Amino acid sequence: MSRKASPSSSPSFVADSMLGDVARWLRLLGFDCLYNSSLHDDQLLEIAWSQCRVLLTRDKDLHRRALARGAVSILVNSTDITQALKQISEELQILLLFDERRSRCPSCNAPLKMVSREEVAGRVPEGILSRYSKFWVCTNPKCGKVYWIGSHWRTIRRVLSNLNT
Ligand SMILES: [Zn+2]
Repeated sequence: MSRKASPSSSPSFVADSMLGDVARWLRLLGFDCLYNSSLHDDQLLEIAWSQCRVLLTRDKDLHRRALARGAVSILVNSTDITQALKQISEELQILLLFDERRSRCPSCNAPLKMVSREEVAGRVPEGILSRYSKFWVCTNPKCGKVYWIGSHWRTIRRVLSNLNT
């Protein structure tokens, strides 16, 4: 039986242990991407197939096994993050854009919630609190990380602008 996922504007993913950076980026861009470096090949295949997730892997053999099983799989070639994201966006024909309402926690994959400066007072350094106005909190109580548009934002903008040209 084949369960090839139909093209969707918002596919979900499972990434192999080599692709932690790709997973963090996809989460930031609002995609549900499972990543756990302790998952072995059989578990990755099972998750991709049973949950209709796109498997992202650097392993040719795993890629072939996924396709043979009827899962959707992308063999990520480049180690450059922009090229890797570009390949995913082209193969699935999806746009990778940052939407601050859709972002997920790069660290744990839970949705992020936009919060006011007051709500994160005491949870981020004073300097950050006074300098920035947009904050997000991870909705997973076990994680709870706070994010803001800081200096790393320039890198994100640069990668995204290279991506969609
Ligand atoms: Zn989190």
